[in-house]
Amino acid sequence: MNATVAAAERAVDSGFDCLKVKVGVRGIDADAERLRAVRDAVESGVSLRADANGAWDRETAREALARLAPVDLAYVEQPLPAGDLDGAAALRRADETPDVPIALDESVAAHGVDAVLEARAADAVVLKPMALGGPDRALAAALRALAAGVEPIVTTTVDAVVARTAAVHVAAAIPDVAPCGLATGSLLREDLAADPCPVDAGRVAVPTAPGLAGGAFDDLRTDG
Ligand SMILES: [Mg+2]
Repeated sequence: MNATVAAAERAVDSGFDCLKVKVGVRGIDADAERLRAVRDAVESGVSLRADANGAWDRETAREALARLAPVDLAYVEQPLPAGDLDGAAALRRADETPDVPIALDESVAAHGVDAVLEARAADAVVLKPMALGGPDRALAAALRALAAGVEPIVTTTVDAVVARTAAVHVAAAIPDVAPCGLATGSLLREDLAADPCPVDAGRVAVPTAPGLAGGAFDDLRTDG
């Protein structure tokens, strides 16, 4: 628990105002305790998200949402396995389910954003450009989600710098975009080039040069 709180405090100290905590591995009691500890450690203006990566079945998900509701989460991501769109839709509308917004990630990669919107299975969709066929398709999906009243969130597939920069552009092209999961470069041991838009105090400055980032990736060409 302390490690999660310490990591959350470090992130907030360095300028982040939206944090995501992974849940679903330790059991509901431990997750609820951990998230409560993080909630109590950070200011109320810091937004908290939880990501279960499809770990729960329907009954466990209902119980988990009930336990996590008092923590004031922005949403719980992928509470059920990717294939269970009906289950996710039921979690959103069931009278006995607490009002915790549901985001879907793996379900979008597996079924496409249109199936998720059609099933009314999510309050937010997590869009990974490299899993959706590229930045143009990810942006189109984001705009369709917005039109359906569903919040698009852009994140990476822990990409190297080229695809990460493309994800930054996708996020920047979404009107009033919600906090996105773009600060993933530090998860890599090495990268292909210097980052043209590094995260600074929780923010990313979008490159304004032509192309992805002007000539930042020119050295990556493998002509001949
Ligand atoms: Mg996720």
